[in-house]
Amino acid sequence: MILYNLRCAHDHEFEAWFKDSNTYDKQVAATKIACPVCGNTGIQKAPMAPRIGSGAQKEQTNSTIDQSKFAKVREVMKKVRAEIENNCDYVGPDFAEEARKIHYDEVDPRNIYGETSQDEARALKEEGVDFTRVPWLPRNDS
Ligand SMILES: [Zn+2]
Repeated sequence: MILYNLRCAHDHEFEAWFKDSNTYDKQVAATKIACPVCGNTGIQKAPMAPRIGSGAQKEQTNSTIDQSKFAKVREVMKKVRAEIENNCDYVGPDFAEEARKIHYDEVDPRNIYGETSQDEARALKEEGVDFTRVPWLPRNDS
C-alpha cells in the first residue's frame, strides 16, 4: 500500500491509499478518484511540502517583528523631521542665539530648528525659552 498526497483541479488537497502506483495510474485514468471536497476527477499527485523546523521558524518571526518595530520608529522620526523642515527655519549652530532673539522679541517670532550644546540648552530652559528636543535622524542614514 502506498499513500499519495493528491490535488484536484480546484487545488483541494487530500490523501488516498493505493495498492501500488499502477493502481493509482489506472484509477486516475478511469476517473475513479474524485475529490472529496468538490467531486472533481482531474486528480494529480501533489508535491509533498517539506516540513520546516519550528525552532528556525520562531527565530525568523522574532527578527521580523524587531525589524518592523524599528522601521516604525524610523518612520515616525522621518515624519517629525519632515514636519520640522517644512515649518521651521534652519539656523544650525546659532540655535541658542536665535531662540533668545525670538524669546526677547528682538526679531519677529518664527519657528526655528538647529543644534545647540547641552549647556546652552540648559541655559535656555532656565531663561524660560520654549523649545523641544527631538531625536534627529541623519539624512544619509536611509
Ligand atoms: Zn476539489
